[in-house]
Amino acid sequence: MKSMVILISQSSKKSEIKDIEKILKKSNLNFIFQKAGKKSVFIVSQDICKSDIEKIRKMNKVEKVVENEKKLFLSSNQFGKKRGYLQIGDWKWQTNDFLLIAGPCAIEDEEGLDNIAKNVKKLGVKILRGGSFKPRTSPYSFQGLGEIGLKIHKKVCDRYGLFMISEVLDRSDLPLVSEYADIIQIGSRNMQNFPLLKAAGKINKPVLLKRNFGSTIKEFLLASEYILSEGNEKVVLCERGVRGFDPAGKNVFDPASLQKLKETTWLPVIVDPSHSAGDSRYVGTIAKSALVSGADGLMIEVHHEPRKALSDANQALKIKEFEKLVKDLNKIGEVVGKRIG
Ligand code: PEP
Ligand code: MN
Repeated sequence: MKSMVILISQSSKKSEIKDIEKILKKSNLNFIFQKAGKKSVFIVSQDICKSDIEKIRKMNKVEKVVENEKKLFLSSNQFGKKRGYLQIGDWKWQTNDFLLIAGPCAIEDEEGLDNIAKNVKKLGVKILRGGSFKPRTSPYSFQGLGEIGLKIHKKVCDRYGLFMISEVLDRSDLPLVSEYADIIQIGSRNMQNFPLLKAAGKINKPVLLKRNFGSTIKEFLLASEYILSEGNEKVVLCERGVRGFDPAGKNVFDPASLQKLKETTWLPVIVDPSHSAGDSRYVGTIAKSALVSGADGLMIEVHHEPRKALSDANQALKIKEFEKLVKDLNKIGEVVGKRIG
């Protein structure tokens, strides 16, 4: 048996909802009505006849009628929504421009970050990355500097006119991180932390959502819909590879999945080659293939002294290596028609 979902816009009146209810009741259909973020949905657990579907589709405030509650609604480009620009701080990211985000894995100290920021800025980087709340596999690894890190990060970003992206691990940290950061990062491990996603849907800042290393594209997009359905449309997806079986590589980046993602959603999609490669020697290869495969940008870990980095030391590019990579990206950009940075 098919189920149907009727998505109702957030501005609907009680009477408009009652009108839909009447049609469903008249046809003796089982349904429940529930909130889906700021919007609401009717979930009908039976087939609805074609004429009723058409009637409902034309009703006021009905946004979409879709078969099967696991289908994509808000992230899908099937309903006429197009990729446009994204407002980041006071800057409009025209999403056909190839975005560069770079910086250390974690914020460590002001002097080092200043060195990184000054150099990456010259290469066209718009956004300085660096976590102050770090999701580490071991509780004995460096967990980030917390608010002290956010303060350093913000200070350095302001000094060089860079935007700031920082990760939020827990819903309770969202207000604090939002005070400082221009973009909120939700990491791979939290991709299905639904309370965090819903809270991120209520803020007025872009959210970078990273794909979990064990999730499908569909689960990834449905996770993004938790943010979208709360009213925040400023979502950027980040592909960072999924776990494979072969320890020779860290997280597998599949250009075909990236293409599939771009064909399915109107949301911009960037690629993080650092967490995919897990080794600085392979970051460039993945970065370049992401560019030719249609990514909208890259997020890359860069450190002034990678060997001394307190987290992800193996995969961080030296500033010189990053410079060389950006040169290569510029050459490829000319061929594929993308402006880098
Ligand atoms: C990161 O970007 O620093 C990070 C922890 O990445 P991921 O969530 O993809 O593992
Ligand atoms: Mn990292």
